[in-house]
Amino acid sequence: MPQQRQSDPLGTYLWCDTCRRSYRHEEIVNGACPVCTNETRQMGKFSAILRGLMSNEMAASPLETRHRQLVRLIWTANGMGEQYYRVLAPELPYNRFEAKVTELLCRGAEEGWVRFVIPPAPRPDETAYKLEFDDEERFVRELDEMVAAETGSVKR
Ligand SMILES: [Zn+2]
Repeated sequence: MPQQRQSDPLGTYLWCDTCRRSYRHEEIVNGACPVCTNETRQMGKFSAILRGLMSNEMAASPLETRHRQLVRLIWTANGMGEQYYRVLAPELPYNRFEAKVTELLCRGAEEGWVRFVIPPAPRPDETAYKLEFDDEERFVRELDEMVAAETGSVKR
């Protein structure tokens, strides 16, 4: 039986599509998921419960979450995240931009045009952790499309 929670005046939860879980309003700051920083969306209590049940099997494990965090740390190392942000000047807040690019790079790695190089064991030297592009143009194009889609101005 679903428990009644009195902490939520609106009767809604905030759902994160990436982590596939819901949060209560007081767990969320500025709509950003506390785990992956992606934007959450408001959802009725009932659909949040249903979704939670349906995605239980594929809920983000701590390993998956840490893996994504590692990806984010690698590509944003040495202020690279801010540099990309400044150059592209997308119309979205930085933490959202960071999450979107992380998502894009994860897809790139899955599709084989991006590689993450990780040393055999943890090292203090940050340069041991690298991002390599097998297809740099693909990345530039995808990044461009991502920013355009976020900005809503497809014409360039
Ligand atoms: Zn999340």
